[in-house]
Amino acid sequence: MNIIQQTATKNPCYQAGRRITPKGIMIHSIGVPQPDPKVIANNFNQGNADSCVHAVIGTGEEVYQLLPWDYRAWHCGSGPKGSGNGTYISFEMTEPSTIRYTNGANWVDLDPEATRRFVLQTYGRAVELAAYLCKLYGLDPEAKGVLISHAEGHQMGIASNHADVEHIWDREGLSMAQFRKDVAAAMRAGEDEKIRYIVQAGAFASEENARRLVEQLKAAGFSAYIREV
Ligand SMILES: [Zn+2]
Repeated sequence: MNIIQQTATKNPCYQAGRRITPKGIMIHSIGVPQPDPKVIANNFNQGNADSCVHAVIGTGEEVYQLLPWDYRAWHCGSGPKGSGNGTYISFEMTEPSTIRYTNGANWVDLDPEATRRFVLQTYGRAVELAAYLCKLYGLDPEAKGVLISHAEGHQMGIASNHADVEHIWDREGLSMAQFRKDVAAAMRAGEDEKIRYIVQAGAFASEENARRLVEQLKAAGFSAYIREV
């Protein structure tokens, strides 16, 4: 993952400069067959834009960050219970050029194999970014209402009536339930890679002296071992 700062300084949402305390992450799928996240990022950086997400991702390593994570983005509209814009970090996933929208969230697939490959790759990137953000803000991806899609936000009454991301994922056998599990697993995998600090207690020419110190350390309750160098 490579976060590229591409702040959407021309977007009125950036200029409004309101802050939030992030309580979760709402994920989106852009709704047009444009695979290049850089194109989408540039589209957001315009003075007449009426929406803005925190970041845009595609199939590659690049995460185009458009707003500081604690800015209030304009990504989900609102519902009877208010707006998720006030508490959720948001990102858009791009969509493959191999689909065509017919009406609303319905689409036809011009190249199922390529579409599948694209969607699965983007899914993997979304897992990475969501895991990163959950760590950054100490969020539990499996807790209720923390990691949600735009469509789930609508069901919760805090977002406009959109079908993303499920309108793309459903056909590829992907789900938000699986996504939350995969993000949690990615966070655990990251834990295993944490740096470990090892303390050295001595260096001896004689193995016997080394053994003696190990015995003393063990007797004192430390875990100790000998390594030949
Ligand atoms: Zn959306």
